[in-house]
Amino acid sequence: MKRKRVLDRIEPFISPYRVTSGKKFRLADIDPGDTHGLKSESKAEAKEMLRRGVEWLEELQDKLYANDHWGQLVIFQAMDAAGKDSTIKHVMSGVNPQGCQVFSFKQPSPEELDHDYMWRYSKCMPERGRIGIFNRSYYEEVLVVRVHQELLKNEKIPKRLITKNIFEHRLEFIRAYEDYLSQNGINVVKFFLHVSKDEQERRFRERLTRPEKNWKFSNHDLQERSNWKAYMNAYEEAIRATATANAPWYVVPADNKWFTRLIVAGAIVQSLENLDLSYPVIDKQQMADLQRAKEELIGLS
Ligand code: ATP
Ligand code: MG
Repeated sequence: MKRKRVLDRIEPFISPYRVTSGKKFRLADIDPGDTHGLKSESKAEAKEMLRRGVEWLEELQDKLYANDHWGQLVIFQAMDAAGKDSTIKHVMSGVNPQGCQVFSFKQPSPEELDHDYMWRYSKCMPERGRIGIFNRSYYEEVLVVRVHQELLKNEKIPKRLITKNIFEHRLEFIRAYEDYLSQNGINVVKFFLHVSKDEQERRFRERLTRPEKNWKFSNHDLQERSNWKAYMNAYEEAIRATATANAPWYVVPADNKWFTRLIVAGAIVQSLENLDLSYPVIDKQQMADLQRAKEELIGLS
């Protein structure tokens, strides 16, 4: 099937989760258990679709690299155990590691806290021709820091600059920053993997009971569950303020991992396809050089 037709077929699956204008966005409108009518019996089919998506992504990345004008930033945000790591692992599994880098942002180091908050993130922006994956991102500055405002002190923000509108200002800045990135040819796509509180509990229980998953359990994650509502509010505010056509959010149902992966792969493929990437065309002089090199090589053999 022609690529264009495949893109047309996947669009209805992806579009319900895409947010390009935040005004009317409500987190409650997206059900974490939604699978867009796909039944769990179609898991095998979904796996096959994912395999094809991963291959497609591999081709697109090769073109992105050869073309060397655009960069692709992919942001993943989520509550704990929503499946960020495994989504990145599965969706990016076919991509050439030389053209892709993953950055995981944890609590900032003392050196990072000595700078403005964007410093550590902007250092990691993808070069042209590359895909940069942010496993957590500058959005933490309006999520965890908003839920735990005492963190602003750690950030050494001067007291008089900690106003009641600080997070609105940060959101305005992030929106403008993403506009700046897209005007520079850095294509931005953002995912919020939306897991339900019940499914998170199930996954935490699994981490406690299955020895090979014990290492993933963290008491800190458990404590953060008590701030669930505050986090959901912060996510909703962030998405409402920063969803734009150039830097869309995808709010992806995350209670079924097979479905999450499919939507994420489809949305990244679509985002790269929108760039109309093509291999560089060589000019007459380069063509003549190639021909000469070919003849020389034949002469050598
Ligand atoms: P996983 O649990 O799958 O390994 P993770 O991304 O949850 O991945 P952790 O080390 O468990 O990694 O947690 C990182 C923690 O760092 C999160 O609680 C996150 O909110 C926090 N964090 C990230 N950025 C900041 C920031 N700028 N200020 C304060 N805390 C931050
Ligand atoms: Mg964690």
